[in-house]
Formats: sequence, structure tokens, C-alpha cells
Amino acid sequence: MLESRQASWSCTDGLASRRILVIGPPGAGKGTQCKILSDRYGTEHISTGELLREAVDTGTPLGRAVRHYVAEGFLVPDRLVLRVVHDRIRSLATRRTGPVGFLLDGVPRTIRQAEALDALMAAGQIDTVIHLTVSDSVVVERLTARGRSDDDRGSVHRRLETYRRFTIPMVAWMSGLRPVLAIDADRSVTDVAADIVSQLLPRDALTQGSV
Ligand code: AMP
Repeated sequence: MLESRQASWSCTDGLASRRILVIGPPGAGKGTQCKILSDRYGTEHISTGELLREAVDTGTPLGRAVRHYVAEGFLVPDRLVLRVVHDRIRSLATRRTGPVGFLLDGVPRTIRQAEALDALMAAGQIDTVIHLTVSDSVVVERLTARGRSDDDRGSVHRRLETYRRFTIPMVAWMSGLRPVLAIDADRSVTDVAADIVSQLLPRDALTQGSV
């Protein structure tokens, strides 16, 4: 289990020490929004999809174990995903002296993963959950334009099904435990980013121009 620390943040460091989960269907813009926040506030961006794709591309044992799941749009077994997250957070913790903040992109996707993540980080460690909501037509439009190797029809269909079957109930379950910010992600990248920032940062930080 990772070292237990109280979630601590203030408007002076923007979002750098916040622990934020970003959840949404494929094509919601999770990676894009996390990148914007990470570039702007220095918050570490941990994307399970990206880490898994990297492992596949470099042909590591993990990559060989997950290749089929990622290519076909199936969920990678919890044990492997959670190890990736654990290792990444641990390596951040060794590199930093202050509280470790991060944007966790693409995990949890199921109630079991959410429970395991809480156990991994000790209760109270996640301070914000962002749920990007997006309509199916926009998902299809964006994924067609993106053309990633797992964006073929069959895989997209499976990922959307998985999202509906497992992730939406997980978000509902999670909202009973902590606030979940629902953000309408059908809008432009800049509008969505502005909405996220205004909901995450206290009003005084926004008006003082520190963001
Ligand atoms: P993403 O980049 O978040 O769309 O994820 C791409 C693919 O990586 C997914 O379709 C899954 O195969 C795998 N993946 C990413 N995150 C998870 C997760 N939390 N649980 C299981 N599989 C995952």
C-alpha cells in the first residue's frame, strides 16, 4: 500500500498536488484535457491507456500480456492495470518531496478497480472525480478523426459497451462516496478545459489571475 498522506492542496499551487480522477467514454477527451491541465499546472498525468500502449509498442512482458486486450478493446485484467498505476505513483513519490498530486486518466473503469484503487492509496486520497460526459454521435465523430490503432469499429463498439456496462455504474457508486463533477464534454476542447478549471479551482484563485 502506498504511504498514507492527507490530500492537501491550496490555491497557491493550483492543481499540482491534487489527486484527480478523470473518467469518460472513449473519445470524451480525457487525454486531451489531462494534457492541458498537466501542461498548465504541472500536475502529473498518468494514463493507463498510454502506459499500456507504450508497453505493447516496446514489447515488454506486460505489453505482450495486454496486447490482445488493448487491440480488441477489452478491459485489461485488474491485477495488471493496478500494478501499472501502483508502480507509476510509487515512482512519482520517490522523485518528489511534497505531496504527490496526479491526474489519473482512464482508471478506475469498474467498481472493483475503484475499490482496489482506494485500498492502494488509503481512504481519502482521491480528492476530485471528473466525469466527462459525451454523446455517442460525438464519440464516433472524434474517434473516426483520431484513427488510433484500436479505433476500428469492433473495438470502439466494445469499449462503449464496456463503458455503459461497468463504468457508468462505477461512477454512480462513486458519487455516493465523494463529489463527482459531471462535465459536458460535447463542447470544444477550450470550453471543456475552461469549465473544468473553473470547477476545480476556488473562485479567488481565478479572479486573482493565478490560473
Ligand atoms: P484508453 O486510452 O483509456 O482509451 O485505453 C485504451 C485501452 O487500454 C482500453 O480499451 C483497455 O484495453 C486498456 N485500459 C486502459 N485503462 C484500463 C483500465 N483501467 N482497465 C482495464 N483496461 C484498461
